[in-house]
Amino acid sequence: MSASSYENFIQLVGNSTQSKELPSQCPECNCKEFYKQSDFKRSLGLVLVSIASVATMILMYMGYNWFIIWSPMLVVLVVDRVLLRMRPVVAICYNCKHILRGIPAEALDELESFDLEIYDRYKYKEENSKS
Ligand SMILES: [Zn+2]
Repeated sequence: MSASSYENFIQLVGNSTQSKELPSQCPECNCKEFYKQSDFKRSLGLVLVSIASVATMILMYMGYNWFIIWSPMLVVLVVDRVLLRMRPVVAICYNCKHILRGIPAEALDELESFDLEIYDRYKYKEENSKS
C-alpha cells in the first residue's frame, strides 16, 4: 500500500484544506468556531471492533478460556488507541465539518476538543434555516 492510499484509508472523510495556521474563519462557510480531533476515521475503529466481536463469539463458542476469548477485543482497543495517538490533529469547522490539515500543534493548542453544546447550537441553526 502506498503512503497516500494509506492516508486515504485512515484519515477523516470530507472536504479539506491545507493550512499553515489556524484561520480566523472557515474557508467554506465563514464559521469562526472549530474543534480539534485526530485525523482518524472513526468508522475504521468500529470495523475493527466488529471484527473483534465476531472473533470473540467464535472463540466463546469453541470453549476457550476468558483470556483468549477477550484477547481480540483487547488487541483492537490497543490498536485503535495507538492509531489515534499516531495521527496528526486537525481542526474541524463546527458548521460544515470542513477539515483543516497541516496546522502546527502550537496553533491547535488554543482549540478545544469537540463540544456537543456548540455542535447542537450549529445543528439547531441549520435546521431552522431549512424550514
Ligand atoms: Zn465551515
